[in-house]
Amino acid sequence: MSQVVTRFPPSPTGFLHLGGARTAVFNWLYARHCRGRFVLRFEDTDTERSSPRFVEAILEALHWLGIDWDEGPHFQSRRLDVYRDYLARLLAAGRAYYCTCPPERLEAMRREAMARGGKPRYDGTCRNRGLGPVPGAAVRFKAPQSGTTVLRDVVKGPIAFDNGEFDDFIVCRSDGTPTYNFAVVVDDITMGVNTIIRGDDHVMNTPKQIQLYEALGAPLPVFAHVPMVLGPDRTRLSKRHGAASVTEYRDQGFLPDAVLNYLVRLGWSHGDQEFFTRAELIAHFDLENLGRSAGVFDPEKLLALNAEHLRATPPAALVEPLRPFFRELGIELEGGPRTEKIIAGLAPRSKTLADLARQARFYFEDEVAYEEAAARAHLTAEALPALAAVAARLKALEDFGESALEEAFRAVMAETGLKLGKIAQPVRVALSGRAASPGIFEIIAILGKEATLRRLERAIAFIGRSRSSSGAGEAPPSPKRT
Ligand code: GLU
Repeated sequence: MSQVVTRFPPSPTGFLHLGGARTAVFNWLYARHCRGRFVLRFEDTDTERSSPRFVEAILEALHWLGIDWDEGPHFQSRRLDVYRDYLARLLAAGRAYYCTCPPERLEAMRREAMARGGKPRYDGTCRNRGLGPVPGAAVRFKAPQSGTTVLRDVVKGPIAFDNGEFDDFIVCRSDGTPTYNFAVVVDDITMGVNTIIRGDDHVMNTPKQIQLYEALGAPLPVFAHVPMVLGPDRTRLSKRHGAASVTEYRDQGFLPDAVLNYLVRLGWSHGDQEFFTRAELIAHFDLENLGRSAGVFDPEKLLALNAEHLRATPPAALVEPLRPFFRELGIELEGGPRTEKIIAGLAPRSKTLADLARQARFYFEDEVAYEEAAARAHLTAEALPALAAVAARLKALEDFGESALEEAFRAVMAETGLKLGKIAQPVRVALSGRAASPGIFEIIAILGKEATLRRLERAIAFIGRSRSSSGAGEAPPSPKRT
């Protein structure tokens, strides 16, 4: 085959959900893997349900996922001339005909068939009437009435359809608009698309499309129909199972590379590898390893994969994506070595960008909010000597490197007779407000001398205040005290 050309043809009637995004990703990856071409096309002939707002939303989601296209976006609504041209070719070849059957008669036929438990089908009334272009006439495809149409699907293997199953379906409605099966074939032929990866909900359309390719004398593309993504309850994935749109994952603090990685793994495998960088996906993605059974969406797995991608991303590359999450906390994040150190310390402890920003908040606010349980357990009268001794040592210290800090803490241990934990925990809460945080030497090094001392003093004052408010010089009750 010459250069591989794939496409993504969403209907702009809703947001880009996970299933649609996966289709886009597969087609994009395959084009990139083969150094081919990827075409974007909006199937917007359904003017009632299509909306520019959804076009924008889909473009935004693709941008976020880092999916770029080499051609388009095309809009079917602007290509009516092309469909008209191809319709003329079908008519000229005797492979289509005008049909003036009134809708009421077709509807009655449909109802009758349903009542009999059969498939509605057109009875061919106009097939041999030789009608010309009458205003208000629809155009039907003269479908083969015997034999079989074989779909050689890369994923599903060959599927033979009995041509007797299909009727003369409409290719052009009475208002002049093409139907889906016709438009999609004309588009794919004229755009040079030769590889179609899509959901297997389209398998039943494919024999009709194959018949149209044959009638138009065009070579068939490679078809790969992938099983639909299922929700955890094993029904088809939908809004009910979580995010309606891919960009909701962006807003929750997922990384595009993680979502991309997860989507691909929902229908393709490479041994038992789970974590892939974008470059690895491009290097390995192929049609041979598309899965035959449906992938089941597992939000926990996506979260774990996101955490892994957070860890693997260089801190400097996280500054930009983190910015909106900090802004939400009232913090304007600036890049630079300090920010990168903060990110490097917290990325391995975070599942999402939102999570990382929440955990990093204390670095940016001297008035740290003490978590209630942490303060109750560690900012106690007992902790006062430790906090005071640490403050005194650090005040005299110039070098805030890891080993100098360690030495200072060791000196405090010797001086107070306390174990490191008894010193470190109150310091941790004083500096971060929490009982769990990155290492305290790391925090102190990042905060620097001034901010560290300010926070220690504030904690000492806090303990003083809690003592006086709790009465006779008692420390606030602490569940951990023995
Ligand atoms: N517009 C169709 C859809 O959204 C795509 C059809 C196709 O891939 O051929 O399902």
